[in-house]
Amino acid sequence: MATSAEMVGAEPIEVLRRLFGYDTFRNQQAEIIEQLVSGGDALVLMPTGGGKSLCYQIPAIVRPGTGVVISPLIALMQDQVDAMRALGVRAGFVNSTQEWGERRDTETAFVDGELDLLYLAPEALGSANTMRLLERGRISLFAIDEAHCVAQWGHDFRPDYLGLSVLHERWPEVPRIALTATATTATRDEIATRLNLTDAKRFVASFDRPNIQYRIVPKKSPTNQLLEFLRTEHKDDAGIVYCLSRASVERTAEQLVANGVPALPYHAGLDARTRADNQSRFLREDGLVMVATIAFGMGIDKPDVRFVAHLDLPKSVEGYYQETGRAGRDGLPSTAWLAYGLQDVVQQRKMIETSDADRTRRRALSQHLDAMLALCETVECRRVQLLAYFGEADGQPCGNCDTCLSPPSSFDGTVAAQKLLSTVLRLDRERNQRFGAGQLIDILLGRQTDKVTRFNHDKLTVFGIGTELSEAEWRGAVRQLLAQGLLAVEGDYGTLSLTEASRGVLSKERQVMLRREPPKTPRQSSSRGT
Ligand code: ADP
Ligand code: ZN
Repeated sequence: MATSAEMVGAEPIEVLRRLFGYDTFRNQQAEIIEQLVSGGDALVLMPTGGGKSLCYQIPAIVRPGTGVVISPLIALMQDQVDAMRALGVRAGFVNSTQEWGERRDTETAFVDGELDLLYLAPEALGSANTMRLLERGRISLFAIDEAHCVAQWGHDFRPDYLGLSVLHERWPEVPRIALTATATTATRDEIATRLNLTDAKRFVASFDRPNIQYRIVPKKSPTNQLLEFLRTEHKDDAGIVYCLSRASVERTAEQLVANGVPALPYHAGLDARTRADNQSRFLREDGLVMVATIAFGMGIDKPDVRFVAHLDLPKSVEGYYQETGRAGRDGLPSTAWLAYGLQDVVQQRKMIETSDADRTRRRALSQHLDAMLALCETVECRRVQLLAYFGEADGQPCGNCDTCLSPPSSFDGTVAAQKLLSTVLRLDRERNQRFGAGQLIDILLGRQTDKVTRFNHDKLTVFGIGTELSEAEWRGAVRQLLAQGLLAVEGDYGTLSLTEASRGVLSKERQVMLRREPPKTPRQSSSRGT
């Protein structure tokens, strides 16, 4: 078997064939590798599964010295190193979880020039020991994986990444490659600035995943909706179900099992052993459903994941796209299915309000949420909107998302919006009160509930003025007004208040278009009404 030691100075294609066993480069791999081999810097944006790893692994093998890979995925370092070694590549890692003897061996190999790849966690660069170690060896390149983590404006900011600028300062002549699967144009620019890569050559692959069908439905009874989705479309298929909290992961997994769906839970609260077992069963066995928090999935390479379902609203379009991108890596038809409701918005706004992030970061989080809501409420092609978010604007409806397959109609909701907003306004002005969507809808529908009579809300002039819409339609209207920035939600109870923009609606200067939910979602049998 060939080993990497003989490959210094070899042609990249030869390394690809002899060590990795592949025939041809994919996408822009050849150009990216050439850029690094000849000593240049690169910023690489490629969707999950696109083949980013080879882009630094091969240059690290071909160039003399060791390629230093910065990765936040400490839990996966062992696997990555094992996979490299199995191919005959000399790889090692240094991180806080490892045994002392192993660490010493890796350090010695690095200093002696016997490593092609050295994986490091970003926090290691803050330590004087690590810096001294790096100075004793010969570095062929720096690879910064998951580079979006450096962007405060991005969805997955990690403060440790800010320390990475030290690499370029100390080793200005060493070529660098930064890679990510998720970056909007704003995040891209921030990565380039923070890592001092503004002059690096950019390689941007298409983010389109045409085999994934994107669908977003209003959340009613999430577990039943999920079971129906699995039963009618993905019986016996492998898939991932994402939930926001550990508790809902546990609950959902139990309910699936009780309904005959082979499901396993995965979240950071389970012990390491159970997590590892569940993960390896999911990878090995057919037709398992992994119910997980977003702790699951980074670096998982399972080609036949047929669906990714979200039972809670993701925090950002970037995160959502990364998660759904785990479906259908084999190119076969797959589904990304998301159920979302008003409560999600309330919960997430509250999480942002109470987070200890600074103001800039909170504003970024809030904008991420707004973009996610806009995607949920769009009447246009979901894929067009997703790709536009990543800077790809060709704009042809895809024909393979719910809004293309069964276009929702929109209607002039200006009057409805005025009724809702003026109810919020009256409660606030006349009574100094704020309420959540439930109470507002009860008032609009003229319902004499206990809470309505207790607060004398049946005496309001707006009481009962909204009977032309059903409760579900009012909920949809509230969601959409939130998504359009015409209402704000805050606090534990999700109280609603007006925004600057609401005024334009109340003064009749602004028209509001609302989405009418299609009577049925695609591929569902017509027997199931709404
Ligand atoms: P990413 O990091 O972009 O998510 P990976 O580097 O993990 O993607 O690659 C995804 C899969 O594609 C891996 O199984 C990898 O071995 C495979 N792969 C990468 N490049 C090629 C290639 N040129 N030919 C065939 N398979 C490839
Ligand atoms: Zn579409």
